[in-house]
This record gives sequence, structure tokens and C-alpha cells, in this order.
Amino acid sequence: MQILITAERIQERLDELAVEIKQHYREQPITIVGVLTGCLMFLADLVRRLDMPVRLALIQASSYRGAVTRPGELQVQAELVPDLRGRHVLLLDDILDTGRTLGHLVGQLRGLEPASLRVGVLLRKEGRQELPLEPDYCGFRIPDLFVIGYGLDFNDEYRHLPHVAVLPAATSSTTDRA
Ligand code: 5GP
Ligand code: MG
Repeated sequence: MQILITAERIQERLDELAVEIKQHYREQPITIVGVLTGCLMFLADLVRRLDMPVRLALIQASSYRGAVTRPGELQVQAELVPDLRGRHVLLLDDILDTGRTLGHLVGQLRGLEPASLRVGVLLRKEGRQELPLEPDYCGFRIPDLFVIGYGLDFNDEYRHLPHVAVLPAATSSTTDRA
């Protein structure tokens, strides 16, 4: 499988993102809301670099079901989100593609009246965005390819890989032509 971003490069970039985050918030407490399931590696590796007051929360959003590389209907489960009123919230997702997921979640979290709301993504796909959403923190810009690893899955596989790789076209083309 073609490695797009090595494990070493990801870890180096997380050092830089952590500095940006700490510089912005200073010592203000923040609540990081991770978007399950893709955020897991990004969230876990990033928060361990944040020596500042941090609360963790999770929200689940998914638009991919099974062995597909094209999104379907967005489903959100917010039962694990605590009271965010008056808190500085940083929403973290694995990848910004069309922007529909984060666009929806930003709207939903704004309704909970946080003191501030920022968005961080590990990856941002070039030329795919449909909604005007500018992430405050972005790890890497990538071309329009279906990627896996470091939290990102295909049919629930490959999330555990320490790097980001490109799913071979042959894998998706047999299952994704509905
Ligand atoms: P959006 O709503 O921005 O189109 O898509 C965001 C969600 O779609 C991400 O949170 C991720 O779960 C999924 N997604 C988008 N592009 C990819 C990709 O290339 N690989 C994988 N594994 N998931 C993706
Ligand atoms: Mg996701």
C-alpha cells in the first residue's frame, strides 16, 4: 500500500500543532470534542502533547457504512457530549472532505453555547470542499484520494496503522459502484 504520510511525519506535525494550540489558548482550560471513530489516534497523540488544562469529550458521526468510499447519509450520536456552555471547545476530526460532517457538528455544538469553538483536522482533502469551513488547525493537505490508517478506515479495517496510506483502487472499485 502506498504510504502518503509516514508515522514520523505525523508525529512531527503533531508537535507543531500542539505548539499552535497552546499559544492560542495560553493556560485557558479547553474541552476537546473528538469525532469518533476516525479521531482516535489523532486525539490520543495530540492531547498528550498539551500540558495545559484539558477536558475530553466524544461525539460520533458517520456517513460511511460498510465497504464504500463515498459518503451516505450523516448520522450523529451526541450522548457522550457534556455541558459545553461557557467552555472553550476544540472540535477534532480526522479529515475534512466535503465539509458536511464538520459543518453539521459545528452548527450543533454552537447551539450548546460554548465560549468559543475552534476546529482541528489531521487531513484536508484538496478540491472537495462544499461548505465554507476553515479549520483553525490542519495537519496536512492531501490530494483527492481515499486514505486509510492512523484512525481512518475502509470497512472498519486499517484504523490501527501508524501512517496514512492510499487505499488501492482495486479494493474500493469492487465494492463501491452503487
Ligand atoms: P465530509 O463530511 O467532510 O465529506 O467527510 C468527513 C468524514 O468522511 C470524515 O470524518 C471521515 O470519516 C470520512 N472520510 C472522508 N474522506 C475519507 C477518506 O479518504 N478516507 C476515510 N477512511 N474516510 C474519509
Ligand atoms: Mg469521521
